[in-house]
Amino acid sequence: MQKLLSNNISSFKKKETAAYLSALTNDVTSVEQNYLSDKLFAISLSFMFFATLIMMLVYSPLLTLISLLSVALPLLASVLSGNKVQLVEKKVSEENKNFVSVLNDILGGFAVIKNFKAEAQMLKILFKKNEDLEYKKFDRRSIQLKVQMLSQLSGLIAQFSVFVFGTAMVLKGMGITSGTVMAFVNLMNSIIKPIAEMPAIIANQKAAKALISKTADILSGQGNEKPTGEHISLYEGITVKNLSFAYEENRPVLKDISLKFEKGKSYAIIGSSGSGKSTLLNLLMGTDDNYTGDILYDTKEVSSINKDLLYELIAVIQQNVFIFNASIVDNITMFQDFDKDKVMAVAEKAQLKELILERGENYMCGENGKELSGGEKQRISIARSLIKNASVLFADEITAALDAKTSFEIINDILKLEDITRIVVTHSLERSLLEKYDEIIVLKDGKVEETGTFKELIEKRGYFNALYTISQ
Ligand code: ADP
Ligand code: MG
Repeated sequence: MQKLLSNNISSFKKKETAAYLSALTNDVTSVEQNYLSDKLFAISLSFMFFATLIMMLVYSPLLTLISLLSVALPLLASVLSGNKVQLVEKKVSEENKNFVSVLNDILGGFAVIKNFKAEAQMLKILFKKNEDLEYKKFDRRSIQLKVQMLSQLSGLIAQFSVFVFGTAMVLKGMGITSGTVMAFVNLMNSIIKPIAEMPAIIANQKAAKALISKTADILSGQGNEKPTGEHISLYEGITVKNLSFAYEENRPVLKDISLKFEKGKSYAIIGSSGSGKSTLLNLLMGTDDNYTGDILYDTKEVSSINKDLLYELIAVIQQNVFIFNASIVDNITMFQDFDKDKVMAVAEKAQLKELILERGENYMCGENGKELSGGEKQRISIARSLIKNASVLFADEITAALDAKTSFEIINDILKLEDITRIVVTHSLERSLLEKYDEIIVLKDGKVEETGTFKELIEKRGYFNALYTISQ
């Protein structure tokens, strides 16, 4: 988890959640069983082996040598076959990831599945993945059994050889009694057991090591550089100069954009779907450095700012705010220590104070905040940005899923905030809100079509005026 949390957001998102879940459950359990428990077992077996060996040497060094030789060859064969366990263990882990991925889909898409009556189809997919997984587990089991049987067989052959050689030595009068032979045949059990078990244990250990490195690969990504200590602040604002960007070559999404976001002011970005609003916002937040042109926080290029430091400066409000199953206050502070007065002051600005007083301080929000309304979740997100003293607040169509009244109130509250630069992507062309922004930026096909205050843009009778008129 430590490794996983050191990922930055974009490297975390590169892999599926199922891969992480599978690594942290299946793989870790397998390591626990095959690596940790077996290791202790191996120690006790080795102890038994060497203690027995000493007793045997005391009775008859020659017969001891014969005993050891008789187990050497079959042992080698079984050790070699043990390598296969490693491969099959990796395959089980792979299939498990696919299985967990379907589980994820069903749990996450429950409402959609019910709406479209897709239960039977989802079950069919799940059964298929389950079957694939069980077949791989069957392969693993059968290989493990083969390795075990081979080593047990070698054990029996060894025990029998010792009996035959021992008897011959007694008959030829080579200095041992039939009692010694009986003792050896019995002691062989304590030699054979470790030898019979060891190849399987070694194979499992190897397989577990392969899993450990696979898990490490999955969890580790491109970590953030550690903060250098010096915090950055925003004095002037954000300047965008000749910014162009493409996700795929030859398909530019943003084309030669130049803008200025002054400190403390509020900006609305509007434009039809696909015009590049979210892309622009993401670039401003430093999520992708493969752009041309400049994005300057004061005079610093965003791509050159340490991401940890950048995240101290900015805050993002998402459409789906993630709420932890903890108290409202913990959800605001993100489990960090803050002065209680400060928390309440922030809660008041985000219009959450009443909710906290009404439900009580220890009220739990439920899994992903299911006890809260969409608007209340948004307010928690606003409070989170305020408490961390962010200089810039980004919001991308955050109220799309809310009713008109709540949506209006949330945006209105954001526009009332002071000393914080607000960049709000919005699709709602509500006059009373639009009039409050310091500037409206209108995007069209990845270009800045118009900028200005509501009044200026209406008077201009251009693209914005057309959009606004249609929406009324
Ligand atoms: P908006 O937020 O204005 O609706 P976006 O910025 O999301 O627009 O998208 C602009 C264009 O970029 C669209 O054509 C979209 O298909 C494309 N796009 C968005 N995200 C990606 C992505 N991750 N990979 C490839 N193309 C993308
Ligand atoms: Mg968008």
